[in-house]
Amino acid sequence: MLDERTEKPSHIRKIIHVDMDAFFAAVEQRDHPELMGQPVVVGGDPASRGVVATCSYEARSFGIHSAMTASRARVLCPQAVFVRPKMDAYRAASQQVMRILRSYTHLVEPLSLDEAFLDVTAATTDGTLAVQIAKEIRARIERETGLTASAGVSYNKALAKLASDWRKPNGLLVIPPDRGLTFLAPLHVSKLHGVGPATVERLSKMGIHTVLDLRNTPQETLTRRFGKTGLWFYEVARGIDLRPVQPHRERKSVGYERTFQENLSDRTVMLNTLQEMAGQVSRRLHELELTGRTVSVKARFGDFQTVTRAHTVAQPIWRAEEISACLPELFAKAVPPGLPVPASVRLLGVTVSSCADAKVNSSDSGQLSLLDEIMHYQLAQLS
Ligand SMILES: [Mg+2]
Repeated sequence: MLDERTEKPSHIRKIIHVDMDAFFAAVEQRDHPELMGQPVVVGGDPASRGVVATCSYEARSFGIHSAMTASRARVLCPQAVFVRPKMDAYRAASQQVMRILRSYTHLVEPLSLDEAFLDVTAATTDGTLAVQIAKEIRARIERETGLTASAGVSYNKALAKLASDWRKPNGLLVIPPDRGLTFLAPLHVSKLHGVGPATVERLSKMGIHTVLDLRNTPQETLTRRFGKTGLWFYEVARGIDLRPVQPHRERKSVGYERTFQENLSDRTVMLNTLQEMAGQVSRRLHELELTGRTVSVKARFGDFQTVTRAHTVAQPIWRAEEISACLPELFAKAVPPGLPVPASVRLLGVTVSSCADAKVNSSDSGQLSLLDEIMHYQLAQLS
């Protein structure tokens, strides 16, 4: 890594991050023109306990956002149109978009159905500008799918992603190497990849709020407090992000989670529910010919606090009984039995990850359909 950091400017990469605007909601508006200009919320039933998957920009102006409960969304905007997810339509649009992206480079890394990184360094050696490619991609997506995308162009993934987010929706921003540090300086640390709410709080207690604050913190202080992640903070604050665009990501996961109509407080019922989910995850792993080594259990409590506990086994597993064997201990860690008041959970989930594809030469489309399966599983709880 150290050698790469001293690479000459001629080795500067050209990375594009493409992100569809309000993807699911935009597909609904495209397919149902009467929804154009309306606050549209794609997700679960507001009368039950489903959550918002995506909402249109009109809905966002009422304060609605992803992962909020659908019932809360209805309180914020009673006139919103609530639509159940139509995964087939989103999958078809996603495949169209990914096909467009892959016509520029094979280095396309989908992050989900509606978002991907492209490394177009090779495509620019003839003098074509990366920004030209990004403009063309946006125009083609709009022409061929009837949907809009935002794009960010920069010299690494972190900045390309920040750039696409900056001009959303339907925008384009280029951050050239000589502007990276200036762009980053005033941003809140929460904008950085890998900085979640808990980390924001820890950084804030250290007096670190902006990326410039982070840049002014000694590397030693950061690594002492955050270990390896501290080194990442140190580098990304300086605009350094050497993560490659990986068309075949090794990390894959299959998971199942469920939000309950009523909170569960009986520990036996909770554990039985997790065991049932292990069976469902096992069946999917089997169908997709996948195995994994990390089993994780997720629990969301009545107050929405969410806890995840994971365990990694020595050999790849997929059978229900192998997954189940990890559950009692993970469950005890996620939902400790000694709590003074019986814990009540509103959501439980089981995931098997770090899966190696058991198939040889799995195609790109295979990967996309796998991402698709995970998404589908997450959405299964919404209906
Ligand atoms: Mg998006």
